[in-house]
Amino acid sequence: LDFSVQEEKKNEEKQIIEEELEDESFVYRIKEMTPRGIVYLTYIIAENEDGMYIIDQHAAAERINYEKVLKSLKKQTIPIDLLVPIKIELSQPEFLVIRQNFDLINEYGFEIEDFGLNTIIIRSHPNWIPDDIAEECIRKVIDIVADKKKFDFDQFVWRMAATMACRMSIKANDYTSYDDQIWLLNELRKCENPFTCPHGRPTIITYTKQDLEKLFKRSLD
Ligand code: ZN
Ligand code: ZN
Repeated sequence: LDFSVQEEKKNEEKQIIEEELEDESFVYRIKEMTPRGIVYLTYIIAENEDGMYIIDQHAAAERINYEKVLKSLKKQTIPIDLLVPIKIELSQPEFLVIRQNFDLINEYGFEIEDFGLNTIIIRSHPNWIPDDIAEECIRKVIDIVADKKKFDFDQFVWRMAATMACRMSIKANDYTSYDDQIWLLNELRKCENPFTCPHGRPTIITYTKQDLEKLFKRSLD
């Protein structure tokens, strides 16, 4: 091994270790909660020493996935080839907007080309999008880009991440096991902004012990 390659390898290893350390140093924004049940297959009821919590399982999962997607968007994305490329026919104005933004979209790990006659063809998608929702996500990305009259880069990234997160997340009325619930609550606690979904809906409603005592007028006994 020549020296520069060795150095490079060392630096790479150092970087990986640093990234791992960085991951361990997250701050929990909510104290540990214990799930106590689920209502309407949608709302997890949980508690800790401070109070009682009602968590919307979709909104919470969406927040978790949203932050993960944003993180992966910042890293280099690896394009994955589709087995069958997807052709999408667009209106002419949509097609023109999309064509103008090919480079931008492709920078995020998509491979989109002009297929003629207001049609585009998609050959690959970024590795962090699960295969089974790839087509849906691509269509959403196209909608987002085509819908913007004046293109705003940051908005594009946020909307794309929010849309992906929504598609990737457990839905209301989906069954969650006790372990799923524990995982969900813990991941939510690690989020930078655990209290709302990327669309601004609340993920968690809190009743402190004092709130409950007041509601039940316990001080009157
Ligand atoms: Zn959603
Ligand atoms: Zn949402």
